[in-house]
Amino acid sequence: VGLETDDPLTYRAKVSPDRSAALEIASGRNETYATLDDLVGRAAGLLARLATSGVAAQRIAFLGRNSIEQIVVCLACQRAGHVFVPLNWRLGSAELGQIIADCEPTLIVHDNEFEAVLAAIGDVLPPIMAIDGDGGWRQAVSRTERADSVAVDADAPCIMLYTSGTTGSPKGVIITRRNAFASAVNFAIVGEVTTRTVALCDLPFFHTIGLVAIGRTTLMMGGRLVISDRFLPDRTLATLGDAALGVTHYFAVPQMAAALRNAPGWDPKALKALQAIFIGGAPLSPALIETFLEDGIPLVNGYGMSEAGTAIHMPLDRDAVARYPGSVGFPAPLLAVRLVGEDGQDIRDGEVGEIWVKGPSVTPGYWNKPDDTARAFVGDWYRTGDLGRRDEGGVIHVPDRLKDMYISGGENVFPAEVEAVIGAHPKVRDVAVLGLPDPKWGECGVAFIVALDEPPSPEEILAHCAERLASYKRPARIVFLDQIPRTASGKAQKHILRQAHASN
Ligand code: ATP
Ligand code: MG
Repeated sequence: VGLETDDPLTYRAKVSPDRSAALEIASGRNETYATLDDLVGRAAGLLARLATSGVAAQRIAFLGRNSIEQIVVCLACQRAGHVFVPLNWRLGSAELGQIIADCEPTLIVHDNEFEAVLAAIGDVLPPIMAIDGDGGWRQAVSRTERADSVAVDADAPCIMLYTSGTTGSPKGVIITRRNAFASAVNFAIVGEVTTRTVALCDLPFFHTIGLVAIGRTTLMMGGRLVISDRFLPDRTLATLGDAALGVTHYFAVPQMAAALRNAPGWDPKALKALQAIFIGGAPLSPALIETFLEDGIPLVNGYGMSEAGTAIHMPLDRDAVARYPGSVGFPAPLLAVRLVGEDGQDIRDGEVGEIWVKGPSVTPGYWNKPDDTARAFVGDWYRTGDLGRRDEGGVIHVPDRLKDMYISGGENVFPAEVEAVIGAHPKVRDVAVLGLPDPKWGECGVAFIVALDEPPSPEEILAHCAERLASYKRPARIVFLDQIPRTASGKAQKHILRQAHASN
């Protein structure tokens, strides 16, 4: 199937020009479908004018917090036939410099806030353009005539997303127009996104969930995007409780949901329009689901990745969430999902194997990394590197990453399960478990713990584990740390812990 057009705004600007498309909660700025479409057309005109002649599909990087401007640049890239590369603003100059050197953008549009970070990168920088100020992006856009969409090639890239860098350096994932469109259709179906959707997202647009699933899907379906530039629990609760705004879909990672639930202003009765809180990106503990269910709010788990978008998702249904606690749900409609054993054969229900996915939202591969691309694919099947188990009812559980599972005395241990148990201890702020070589058991678990104010003794932790975990799953060692290295989306970077502790 080709695509004759995949520009979500052209259609909506015709059928519902005066409806609000996007609202920034920090500034109160609002754009209707007509005004947003006009901005995107002008921005596309500007990009066409700035384009270096003779180079097709130029990469335009964006360094900035979630904003209407970021959406404008993303959709203008698509209209002008360029590739939008959102950069992770939580990274420092050295890491950003590596990514910029890798993707070689022809232009970087940035929030004025990040001027100094960019300046510190030095000589790999292409031309940069601040959003605000004389001769800045916004001013230039307002002075430019609109341009229409260039002809659509469904296999042309339109976005490049860098992975979170949980298991190593971030990799650039090429997302074609077909991929982006299929991801949005998948998400619209599993997330029940309609013209009545009001989506608030505290997650950054530089990841697939923020940009591809929520941002683009909401606009494609004619809903309203409520844009948050940072996670402030009090502000989020006020926004969710604003009856006039009527947020229906809220998106967060597990740690954010827990922070909201513990905030003094938490009042589930105020969240009248809210259909569900969407959680993804990292393991979600059944204990957290339970506390939200008591308040009558379903935490809907979704499993996805930069390489394929939303792949497996829970239904927005309290009963299903209660019936399958901790599951990530059912495969997305446009994807095929296999669970594969070490021998490359499909496993039986109830067993654990690697999740493979295939379909129109799956990337053609990594930018500049042919070896990684070759390793990640078996024919058309993308090997996710995650473990999955299909249970009764056809729902899938993701026990952990294949790389993180370890074998102790012949038994498979999934660190995520151990982390959920230790993380529920009242004196523990944060925890990461990894398997390290052990002369007796092959591998043994080491729990890295960040304590809350009063540190627990190792014996307390072990006693807590003994009540809840089989002996081979209990950590053999406990190490207290000040902090666990985590990605912007809160995932533990175990390769960093492993490097630092392999020798002790
Ligand atoms: P890198 O590929 O650079 O190591 P990453 O895999 O964390 O980083 P992303 O593409 O942002 O980069 O994240 C996708 C991964 O997040 C999945 O492969 C999976 O391991 C994890 N994940 C996503 N959703 C869930 C979920 N609901 N439950 C458990 N894990 C999840
Ligand atoms: Mg990954």
